[in-house]
Amino acid sequence: MKSTASTIRVLALAALAVAIWALAKYGQAMPRVVPADAPLTEFSAMRADAMLARLLGPEKPHPASTDENAAVRERIVQEFLKIGGHVLHDTAMGCDVGRRAAYVACATVTDIIAGVRGGKGKAIILLAHFDSVPAGPGAADDGAGVATVLETARALRARGGKTLHPVIAVLTDGEEYGLLGAAAFLDNPVLKDRVGAVINVEARGNRGASRLFQTSPGDEKLIDLYAASVSTYATSSLYAEIYKYMPNDTDLTLFIRDGFPAFNFAFADNVAHYHTPLDLRRNLSLVTLQQHGDNMLGVAGALMQTPYTNLKGPDAVYVDVLGRWLLHIPESWALPGAIALLILLAGAVAVSHGPKVETREWLRAAAIFPALLIGAGAAGWLLSEIAELVSGMPDPSYAHPIALRTALTLGVAAVTIAVSRLAGLRAAASAVWLWLAVLGVAVALFLPGFSPYFLAPAAFAAVLTLATARLGWGSAVGRAALIVAALAGLVLWLQLAASGETLMGLKLHPLFTLPAAFGVATLVPLLATPQLPKRFWLYATGGCFGVAIAAAIVAGFQPAYSESAPQRLNLNYIVDNATGDATWAADATAPLPPALRAAAKFSEEPEQPYSSSWRKAYLAPAERAAVRMPGATILANAREGLTRTVTLGLNGSPDAAMMTLVVPGAAKLRRIVIGQKAVEVPAAWAEQNFVTIACMSRDCATMPVTLDMADNGPLNLTIIERRAGLPGFGAKLAQARGKTAVPSQFGDGIMLLTPVTVPGP
Ligand SMILES: [Zn+2]
Repeated sequence: MKSTASTIRVLALAALAVAIWALAKYGQAMPRVVPADAPLTEFSAMRADAMLARLLGPEKPHPASTDENAAVRERIVQEFLKIGGHVLHDTAMGCDVGRRAAYVACATVTDIIAGVRGGKGKAIILLAHFDSVPAGPGAADDGAGVATVLETARALRARGGKTLHPVIAVLTDGEEYGLLGAAAFLDNPVLKDRVGAVINVEARGNRGASRLFQTSPGDEKLIDLYAASVSTYATSSLYAEIYKYMPNDTDLTLFIRDGFPAFNFAFADNVAHYHTPLDLRRNLSLVTLQQHGDNMLGVAGALMQTPYTNLKGPDAVYVDVLGRWLLHIPESWALPGAIALLILLAGAVAVSHGPKVETREWLRAAAIFPALLIGAGAAGWLLSEIAELVSGMPDPSYAHPIALRTALTLGVAAVTIAVSRLAGLRAAASAVWLWLAVLGVAVALFLPGFSPYFLAPAAFAAVLTLATARLGWGSAVGRAALIVAALAGLVLWLQLAASGETLMGLKLHPLFTLPAAFGVATLVPLLATPQLPKRFWLYATGGCFGVAIAAAIVAGFQPAYSESAPQRLNLNYIVDNATGDATWAADATAPLPPALRAAAKFSEEPEQPYSSSWRKAYLAPAERAAVRMPGATILANAREGLTRTVTLGLNGSPDAAMMTLVVPGAAKLRRIVIGQKAVEVPAAWAEQNFVTIACMSRDCATMPVTLDMADNGPLNLTIIERRAGLPGFGAKLAQARGKTAVPSQFGDGIMLLTPVTVPGP
């Protein structure tokens, strides 16, 4: 009898947690898709989608400085002309100086700048990029953004009415090569002077919520404005904290660095299609496009009525709840709030009634929370390792996540049940909530963007537990209060587990298991009393864990990749004049498909394809084709004072998509001039083995490059010409890649390396 009651209780609590997770994953409030015949003052995803079809035409990749890029640009201009207003092009060299690597990227890019609403003063910028990566047609990234800007511009013109600020659409080129269009735009003082505030729309997938994932510092007023101007929310101050540590950047990075008030919206579900040939219009969610548009039109409309001075303020911390509500407070409230909640919860614990708790039980209760977190993290690690071991693939659940997700869920459940016998109701409830409140104080101090996840549940719990503490938590009212108090924690934390999985996949399992553990920690007190009978407890813990391991094994037996979630696998044909070798190089992020391995003699282990390469690859010998190799003419090599200046005339073929110059760090580069554009080089790069200078437009093939440096010795450079696509005789190899692998990002290419030595001056 006793175990039947326990089973019902465990299952009921598990069902509650799973139901809330499912609600967070599938029940997030999203807008209704507005049909094409809706009033012209509205944003219609149907209209934007039709516009996108016209813009993309044949849906070909259109990276900067290609014929396809020029064709897409011309179609965008035609759409702007239809809407009305003037359009200009801005062609200039844009450069990006690497912040994380000794790398300079430059290209001649052409931005599109279109007037949307006239007026005096600085403008609201509607920002997106129209270039794509070489490997994919960019329907979502960032075609969806371009269509969103156009449909928003159209709606804003249709609305008419007064505006405090002009509105300008800026569609940048060369974003994928390092924010080059945005850099060129901001390099132009006349254009930069027009900027008042910026709304950027981006993509890192093709479904899910269009999230406000980044704002400029001092964002309290921006969040107020967002809260008031859109109907469904998807945001969290935690995203901005995480985004700081991610290698990705968007055009908005540069605008934020220059101090403009800014909003950054992006959708990021189904990242498997991002930067691949699958980034097609048919794979883009219309609901997502609608939310993208509602965000941009809502925020732009509100900005038009807001003086810029009203946008200045302190930081805020915030989180949406299931897309329906937006909790937001000034960041300066987080710490006092967290301390107040800790005092309130400590008060509730102090005045609460219940069975007497011995010191040892208090200690065991205090261990519940850390044990649950460590246990969940360890279970996640173990289960992922099992799946990886069985699969032999680095990310076994990439294409089929359900089995591993089940395993991880059961792993967390096993640990939760395991820790439930550590203490009784009163001690467990007190300890779990005090932990959350204490961590709330720590987080408010060190990672304030994260604090809503602690403050909101703790506030909810503090009020409820304080109100019911005198009744004793064991009473029916006390238990009801504990369940209700648990809800806030469950919703916020399981929402985080659900979005963590869609953003990063289960490869980053702690982003799933740890938020889940935080959420279900609030259920442990309800599991603790009456204490689960020892036998039942053992079977339940062991049973959950056993099934979790079985599910992890099943996950390992499933194919890691599928046609809709393919392996990212670029092929490069490399000819190196230094060695005379021709080589096939295949991306080594995962083992090669057997058919590809059979098609050429690829190395067993990843190897360095050439000395200055950043990544290892599986290499195979290739036939040496008759191909024109790049070179350089030394136009100048002189020393003046402490500076030596070398000017090279690059000599690439008309097929060159990119020319790269690899300079040894020991040359002590100070300054680079590419075409007309000068770039200062950080002194710290002298410590690097190589400084890589990539010129990524077609005019680079014959570009003069000047290097100012401190070193006077012989200068051993490598010039690399990159062409898009494989040579004709590589077609068989490309085919052997199969249907479950695709090129991504830069895609397949030909790389031709020539060493060039410049003698001392
Ligand atoms: Zn993008």
